[in-house]
Amino acid sequence: MMRLPRFHYFAPRELGEAVQVLAGEEDAMVIAGGTDLLPNMKRRQQTPRTLIGLRNIDALKRLRNGPDFTIGSGVTLTSLVEDEKIKSDYRGLWQAAAQVATPHLRNMGTLGGNICLDTRCNYYDQNYEWRKAIDFCMKKDGEICWVSTGSKKCLATSSTDTAPALISLGAKVKLVSANEERTLALKDLYQDDGIHYLKRRKGEILTEVMLPDSSGLRSTYWKLRRRGSFDFPVLAVAAAIEFDERDNIKDARVALGAVSSQPIVCATVNEFLQGKRLTDEVIEGAAALCAKAAKPVKNTDFAPHWRKRVLSRIATYALQELRGDDMRETRKKIARQYL
Ligand SMILES: Cc1cc2nc3c(=O)[nH]c(=O)nc-3n(C[C@H](O)[C@H](O)[C@H](O)COP(=O)(O)OP(=O)(O)OC[C@H]3O[C@@H](n4cnc5c(N)ncnc54)[C@H](O)[C@@H]3O)c2cc1C
Ligand code: SF4
Repeated sequence: MMRLPRFHYFAPRELGEAVQVLAGEEDAMVIAGGTDLLPNMKRRQQTPRTLIGLRNIDALKRLRNGPDFTIGSGVTLTSLVEDEKIKSDYRGLWQAAAQVATPHLRNMGTLGGNICLDTRCNYYDQNYEWRKAIDFCMKKDGEICWVSTGSKKCLATSSTDTAPALISLGAKVKLVSANEERTLALKDLYQDDGIHYLKRRKGEILTEVMLPDSSGLRSTYWKLRRRGSFDFPVLAVAAAIEFDERDNIKDARVALGAVSSQPIVCATVNEFLQGKRLTDEVIEGAAALCAKAAKPVKNTDFAPHWRKRVLSRIATYALQELRGDDMRETRKKIARQYL
């Protein structure tokens, strides 16, 4: 049995108290649902001496309607899936949240934890003894990357389901520390580095996610995973498109998940789609550009070249769904559920 290491635990009721404790502790991390962090601690991948629990902070659990639709970082994935506005207006986010893990994990797991989810790699997601036996890697305790021994940086994969969906919807996030508060586009929170995958500053807590008005926007999220019941994505396509009254594309945002150390914003696809209608040829062209942007490496399920090839098929399904095609049976085949 893998046991947790010893740690101090704080359970503040106010955000102000949480950021003060975080600022004052040398080796501290925040914990929300704990569904990612606690297994990592058991495997000694993350070993904070202090944990600051966010579950008692009611201010982080609110959903608010206003000029932006605001979701507290402590809102659970189950609450997201049960929210009617998210289901109807931010469909891509709803589809992403509904495919994270299992119902039990979604009851505990939060949106903030999903956004800040640790990157994944077959050589890293193992217990301490396994990693010690082959020698540790640079993400924790070692110096080499076993995926690419010549690489100077860790190539672990961004595996969050909600981040690509949120990025395609144009989400912003608010980060609060003891000294300051800042808001940035979610896409700018990430960077292409498997160890330092977040540009979160020391002492910052992600408090809110802001989604712009969804009028006229159609969105979708498609994910491929090995197990149909539950699994992390091995590739994912999120797309949000605004059409004019003639079904020409006014604005398009496509983001890819699980094919790099950060969610990839497909700028070339977005430019390519501007002003066009979603004909079969246009969809084929956009899907090919998506596959070109993906950079899968050999550290997760399935061979990288196969993931890249299949990505264009998944992107095709996503765009066909946004065009209004009936994709329910294809969905059922891939996601094992109607979404
Ligand atoms: C069997 C299994 C299957 C899973 N499948 C999937 C899957 O298919 N897709 C998927 O995306 N995830 C999956 N997960 C991972 C996890 O369950 C979810 O990502 C979940 O949403 C994480 O949220 P949490 O609140 O539990 O995060 P936690 O474990 O509490 O935290 C995760 C990380 O985020 C940081 N953090 C949390 N909240 C904040 C905040 N407000 N501000 C700053 N940092 C914060 C923590 O310090 C930690 O580093 C799976 C996990 C398991 C065990
Ligand atoms: S990509 Fe390389 S450095 Fe990163 S976790 Fe995997 S083996 Fe370790």
